[in-house]
Amino acid sequence: MSDANPYAMLLEPVQIGPVTARNRFYQVPHCTGLGHLRPRADAAVRGMKAEGGWAVVSNQETEIHPTSDLSPYAEGRLWDARDVPALRLMTDAVHAHGALAAIQLVHNGNHAQNLLTRAPVLAPSEMSVDTTHPKQAQAMDKADIREFRRWHREAALRAKDAGFDIIYVYAGHNMTLAQHFMLPHMNQRSDEYGGSLENRVRLTRELLEDTHEAVGDSCAVALRFAIDEMMGAGGMQVTEEGRAIVELLAELPDLWDVNVADWSNDSATTRFQPEDGYQNAFLSHVKQITRKPVVGVGRLTSPDMMLSMVNKGIVDLIGAARPSIADPFIPKKIEKGRIDEIRECIGCNICVSSDNLGIPIRCTQNPTMGEEWRRGWHPEIIAPKKSNADTLVVGGGPAGLECAMQLARRGYQVTLAEASAELGGRVTKESKLPGLAAWSRVVDYRLHDLKQRGNVQLFTDSRLDGDQVAELGVEHVFVATGSLWRTDGMGRSTQRHVPQIEQSANVLTPDDIMNGVLPPDGPVMIYDDDHIYLAGVIAEKLATAGYQVVFVTPESLVSAYSINTLEQPRIQARLMELGIDIRCNQVLTAVQGDMARICCAFTGREMDIPCASTILVTERQRETTLYDGLRGLRLKTVELIGDAASPGLIVDAVFAGHRAARDFERPKAEADQDWFRREIIDLEETR
Ligand code: ADP
Ligand code: SF4
Repeated sequence: MSDANPYAMLLEPVQIGPVTARNRFYQVPHCTGLGHLRPRADAAVRGMKAEGGWAVVSNQETEIHPTSDLSPYAEGRLWDARDVPALRLMTDAVHAHGALAAIQLVHNGNHAQNLLTRAPVLAPSEMSVDTTHPKQAQAMDKADIREFRRWHREAALRAKDAGFDIIYVYAGHNMTLAQHFMLPHMNQRSDEYGGSLENRVRLTRELLEDTHEAVGDSCAVALRFAIDEMMGAGGMQVTEEGRAIVELLAELPDLWDVNVADWSNDSATTRFQPEDGYQNAFLSHVKQITRKPVVGVGRLTSPDMMLSMVNKGIVDLIGAARPSIADPFIPKKIEKGRIDEIRECIGCNICVSSDNLGIPIRCTQNPTMGEEWRRGWHPEIIAPKKSNADTLVVGGGPAGLECAMQLARRGYQVTLAEASAELGGRVTKESKLPGLAAWSRVVDYRLHDLKQRGNVQLFTDSRLDGDQVAELGVEHVFVATGSLWRTDGMGRSTQRHVPQIEQSANVLTPDDIMNGVLPPDGPVMIYDDDHIYLAGVIAEKLATAGYQVVFVTPESLVSAYSINTLEQPRIQARLMELGIDIRCNQVLTAVQGDMARICCAFTGREMDIPCASTILVTERQRETTLYDGLRGLRLKTVELIGDAASPGLIVDAVFAGHRAARDFERPKAEADQDWFRREIIDLEETR
């Protein structure tokens, strides 16, 4: 640490109960989709954060008992002593780099469906589980509460045994029993655990006291608390009971980890919450009340904002989940004055979607995330070149940019040729649509890096064909030419019955809209067979521009896949508020003249929709003209990557570009073996 560093204040140590954080960078708990099912991979993710300079690295919510069974999702698990060795992998990995390890103990109450264990579901009062699973929770009696406290206490002792330095009591995200007891709509008890605020907070107070008593001599006790439910007077509010709870428990935890509920508000996407630091107004209340250190989040990637938050007394520690996923080395980069190398989170929630899908974490910005153990990938280190080979990357979208950047980091000579006037491919185009501006960070980060390097040549306005590639004389070519949206209506819902589209009909695709084409005057129908964000943002753009928009989808919800990114309810609400006519469960059958014909996905009943134009957001066609032309040439490498190989999300394109660069000049058999690497269940008798 140097005094000259303007961010030196962020590098100061902070005392948290009996332990000391080496600086103010705190990776708050976040899910990885790895957890108890993939403990080696999870430990490697956390170890990488510690190596990147975070002073505290937390795991994810960790079930303390079989009545809090989050299966089939891969969260943390600490039901008994047999779970300790797997968690110790993480604490060892974190300690190896001088950081503190934190564990987020949880009982999920009626958020746990107990699908694996078939154990009873517990809640403060009688109620359904909080998914659509047809099951109800039972109200806990006093004996249940005593038992729960015992489980929590014993889990804290096991956590200490596993090597954790900070142990959480978790009352947040509307997902935990401690918080459920606090919320009047979930707690209708008439005993000393219900009614007044003091009574509703009693359980959390007891958990904090129990944990202190059990492990407080050597471990800090943190409270993760959702201070506002973001529902106005309909829920807990920071100015009302939220603040009152902080007053009631002020000095009891060693650390306040404060956020907002529910998870979709806490992990807001840039589409709906473009401002980084969006939780500051909530956090600032807490430090006024407690003398204990406070950590808070809000997609914090800017060191200036971090500094001002500490200076203004909003927080003591800079909390991060997503920013630490996008760039595990933020603290190190700030410490070394390499601010412009920070890979900023774009707020797309693809990482969140992994947890919701029960699959290993991935990140749009950081292709190494979740691959630290499986592929041995490091976000800042890549193997040096194996030869003096020259490389050519064709196509400057996310796949091409990532591939070129990593090849250049390896030391190869890289030429990148892009047909259009601007680099960035689909990302540059999509980031001009409503709410997606932050996505340009995917391009900005890579272009900035590429432009620093002497071994890179970037060409725009350079559409290459096979002959031109042959003329260049480069023997290793990566083809990242992307894909184009189909115009024929073929998609997942129309595969058996391709819609009849009249030649004269006004049919547009997302590419047209992104290229600046506007539909003719009159109503426009958008057919969404893609189900994530694009059709929704195009609808938003056109409705805002004054078009009458009819949004048709074969799914029962608008942008159904975006449930996984926590955005679906917001998208549907936004479209409804814009006056868009939403037709769910409808399949496109024909587009003729000034009408489109749709039919009910269940009954087949047909209906005509008057529209002057139709925008088809269905499937994409791979752009492989160049690749096909290159196959006849005697090149040493011709590799198709990204959307040109398999149209998908931006995260997939970045991953493909990264993998191609890593595997370049690596024996194929060795590279292929990476697909097989996994954590295999130990068949030892463990009853
Ligand atoms: P990905 O997501 O796989 O990176 P994109 O569609 O975002 O794919 O980007 C592909 C890029 O490739 C586009 O910017 C496109 O203009 C460019 N491109 C397509 N064909 C050629 C070509 N023959 N020569 C150079 N660039 C090309
Ligand atoms: Fe940020 Fe998206 Fe990466 Fe998540 S996946 S950390 S939201 S860039």
